[in-house]
Amino acid sequence: MNNVAVLGATGSIGGSTLDVIARHPDRFRATVLTAYSQVEALAALCVRHRPQLAVIADPSLGAELSRRLTNAGVRCEVASGHAALAAAAASSLCDTVVAAIVGAAGLESTLAAARAGKRLLLANKESIVMAGPLLLDAVAAGGGALIPIDSEHNAIFQCLPGGRPDLRKSGVRRLILTASGGPFRGRTRAQLSSITPEQACKHPNWVMGRKISVDSATLMNKGLEVIEAHHLFGAPAESIEVVVHPQSLIHSMVEYDDSSVLAQLGNPDMRTAIAHALAWPERVEAGVPPLNLAACAPLQFEPPDLATFRCLALAFQALHAGGDAPAVLNAANEVAVEAFLAGALPFLSIADVVETVLAELPAQAVVDVQTLRERDRAAREAARRVLRNAC
Ligand code: NAD
Ligand code: MG
Repeated sequence: MNNVAVLGATGSIGGSTLDVIARHPDRFRATVLTAYSQVEALAALCVRHRPQLAVIADPSLGAELSRRLTNAGVRCEVASGHAALAAAAASSLCDTVVAAIVGAAGLESTLAAARAGKRLLLANKESIVMAGPLLLDAVAAGGGALIPIDSEHNAIFQCLPGGRPDLRKSGVRRLILTASGGPFRGRTRAQLSSITPEQACKHPNWVMGRKISVDSATLMNKGLEVIEAHHLFGAPAESIEVVVHPQSLIHSMVEYDDSSVLAQLGNPDMRTAIAHALAWPERVEAGVPPLNLAACAPLQFEPPDLATFRCLALAFQALHAGGDAPAVLNAANEVAVEAFLAGALPFLSIADVVETVLAELPAQAVVDVQTLRERDRAAREAARRVLRNAC
């Protein structure tokens, strides 16, 4: 029996993970569930999955969660506050941790799971973007496994010869990340000037949380994924290519020295990647319908439009700058996306905010989590200043 902690259980990835777990009660059990402030949704998940520990990150909601669980006749430990998330990730109640919190808020709990030697299933890409070397060191020190859930990285993981091998020794020439192009593929900058949050969150192929949906629309998501691939697989920036593939059936590819290209295909449903990561190296049913190739539209490929979707170019810029530049990029983007979702920033200005903050805070070496957090705060303050000046 594999005991699983689902961090961010009330989110899109959290829901898909619990769906896969519920299909295999003989193999997996959700022993820890966490959420930020959706106390009602978390209580409902506890009624359904009967975890041993439920954590609500908002410290003011612990008592309400306890009350709801008592009323529902659910006996489980309750904790609240941000520190309780990291403690839960490292606790003996779980062997596997699904890191599915959105944004930099997931950093400490992801690191705690790695340090504790858990089998870490990573969806929270922002934590590896911010703290790539620190996270890999923590995984090595803890002695656990790191398996990507992000569909592109999970696809690459599946196309590599076993685990996360040395790419050069394995004869890998390039990692080819596919991108759907998001809801605004093919549009000009002029056509993007009055985009609303609702339009940006309507992804053609995937149903996801609002932050990653906006990142997909700006192509910042692909930029974060390039940085994620760099750290996860030890791939130089020059060996990572992005190709737009609107059907989202090929989730990514690996090209070898002999020019063989291996691809992983499937319907665009995160449960495939989650089931793969939960069961690896075995395979389990994911609840995803089989791919019917004969019924698929022709598969298309095109280069990304870096002039219109500048966030992708900015992410490559941050990767080349190195050090904590990706953390600065991520923090500025989180602030800008929040402002866009609140109706306080035009869609095209998200890239402007990120570009200005990157220029204001030149890259410094990543020393430890504390200095990284200070840098994250400085980048957020700089982004808010840019926002105030723009309004
Ligand atoms: P979501 O918004 O649907 O869910 C986020 C979860 O995190 C919720 O449970 C929420 O309660 C929790 N959370 C939010 N802020 C928090 C905070 N400050 N402290 C503690 N918990 C907090 O997001 P999602 O779409 O499920 O994405 C989660 C992560 O997975 C993101 O990093 C995203 O980039 C990544 N990811 C998502 C998908 C997808 O299809 N949704 C695919 C690949 C990668
Ligand atoms: Mg992805």
